[in-house]
Amino acid sequence: MSRFRVRRKQRRRQRLLATEVPPAWHELLRREFPLYRRLPADLRRRLLGHIQVFLDEKVFVGCNGMEVTEPVRVLIAAQACLLILNQPTDYYPGFQTILVYPDTFVVPVTERDGVIHSDTVSARLGESWHRGPVVLAWDQVLNGARDDRDGHNVVMHEFAHKLDEENWQVDGLPVLTDPQQYPQWQQVLSRAYAELQQAVARDEPAVIDDYGASSPAEFFAVVTETFFERPRLLHRHHPRLYDQFQRFYRLDPLQWYPD
Ligand SMILES: [Zn+2]
Repeated sequence: MSRFRVRRKQRRRQRLLATEVPPAWHELLRREFPLYRRLPADLRRRLLGHIQVFLDEKVFVGCNGMEVTEPVRVLIAAQACLLILNQPTDYYPGFQTILVYPDTFVVPVTERDGVIHSDTVSARLGESWHRGPVVLAWDQVLNGARDDRDGHNVVMHEFAHKLDEENWQVDGLPVLTDPQQYPQWQQVLSRAYAELQQAVARDEPAVIDDYGASSPAEFFAVVTETFFERPRLLHRHHPRLYDQFQRFYRLDPLQWYPD
């Protein structure tokens, strides 16, 4: 992209970040996305700005008769932008399209290792194609938004994969803003991943969902869901892991869940 286009894009983003959103958005988010209500006022304001940039730059496509209305777009954008709320961000570069199905979907493609990433476990139905679209089932999106304590959120999960792929590989290692964090990140995450695999093998209960034991990429996406929706539990049982995620996302959801 030329320098001129980059500057134009930045100006456009700055303008959108400062624009007031329609009052209906506040109402929608308060009603359907209780985590939004938990945010301190400054972060809530910032989120509304990010949502506007996200909606300006991403393309939503309804599939199987799904009508992609403004509330659908805003609710998906809000959950996706929570992850980049406090980070230096380029708004999930490298892909543009979000496909939205009304509910459970079957995608007629052959799964190729490392190219398409499917999450077909119940209650987290979504997909992220490498450098391609994110695919979401609307009923799962809505469930994920409405329940902010169950540790499951399909939008956060799929967009965590998108953060992970920004350095090309989807391997549970996203780009860390602070390069000094890499050694600790590697050490803490690989240890916690091995522990989860052991717990799953022994059929022991764990704070982090079993699905996180399937690969380091899934581990990163699943812990992201736990970090935002069950911060208290994650912090109590895995303080070092919590700390790594707090440094990465530059957010402390523990403050948002007083009980
Ligand atoms: Zn996944």
